[in-house]
Amino acid sequence: MSIATHGPGCSPRHDGQEDPGTRGHEGPRIDLHTHSRCSDGTSTVDELIAEARAAGLDVIGLTDHDTTAGWTDAAAAARREGVTVIPGIEVSTEHEGRSVHVLALLADPDPDTELAQEIGRAHRSRLTRAHAMVERLAQDFPITWEDVQAQVAGTETTVGRPHIADALVARGVCPDRSTAFADILGSSGPYYVRHYAPTPEVAIRAVVAAGGVAVAAHPASGVRDGAVPISLLESMVAAGLAGIEVDHREHDAAAREELDAFARSHGLVRTGGSDYHGAGKPNRLGENTTSPQALDRLLDQVHSGLEPLHA
Ligand code: AMP
Ligand code: FE
Ligand code: FE
Ligand code: ZN
Repeated sequence: MSIATHGPGCSPRHDGQEDPGTRGHEGPRIDLHTHSRCSDGTSTVDELIAEARAAGLDVIGLTDHDTTAGWTDAAAAARREGVTVIPGIEVSTEHEGRSVHVLALLADPDPDTELAQEIGRAHRSRLTRAHAMVERLAQDFPITWEDVQAQVAGTETTVGRPHIADALVARGVCPDRSTAFADILGSSGPYYVRHYAPTPEVAIRAVVAAGGVAVAAHPASGVRDGAVPISLLESMVAAGLAGIEVDHREHDAAAREELDAFARSHGLVRTGGSDYHGAGKPNRLGENTTSPQALDRLLDQVHSGLEPLHA
């Protein structure tokens, strides 16, 4: 199974501009990190995959938070749009109170796996947590649980702070999601409630046990809880980490250099992705990409029997 040799081909950029995120990759354009309405993106899976085609992407990773709910729709949309989709999950994990995200690609979605148990537990805990946050918010702002529910696409959707942010926007409390996060929903603010999440090491071992590959998502993002310490990255490698998302909007040049050096010295694959959330964030599809050779190295480590969803 090779994306570099069997991919649907190169879609050249048309504007002649150098895109730092692509790092001059030849061949198929691959964005391994995207979200749909199955979590906190604003596009349906069908819309997301059509948007990926319009953006000139050949391959995307569908990596909704703590759910595989979008995978079924993705298979049909991949065929229709001629975009290859890598079924994935962005697994919420927690290390000493810090939120750490792990991308799981092509892991067995069977409900009996430890991975499914862990994301299921996080998914349910997120719902309880959202209720608790709304209860706190309602003391100071005009917001009800029904307002939040109105922002959530379906019963399988992973509920997060972005849906609460959207409810605050709909109520006119905030102009947009980013402002809601900055002013009201921050993790050090009075309305924040944590939810259950496994440790990064437990999550990575569960991904590997389910035959998938694990990639550290935006580990140097200072926008969140600060960069993941090197000691934790080392421990994640020991648990079976296969790659590092070096190329991400929230990583500056110095962070990319440092993470690339870490990846090289530990034999890890360097990936890149947009972390597209539709209208929910400024991130644009394909703004950071993964080389075909890097994806092939990841695919070589998959042993779940799952394959990318081809056109
Ligand atoms: P949660 O996992 O429910 O605590 O919410 C975190 C999610 O909110 C992340 O997955 C991001 O997609 C999103 N998020 C975090 N910060 C921001 C921001 N400043 N603006 C918009 N979305 C954000
Ligand atoms: Fe998100
Ligand atoms: Fe993330
Ligand atoms: Zn993400």
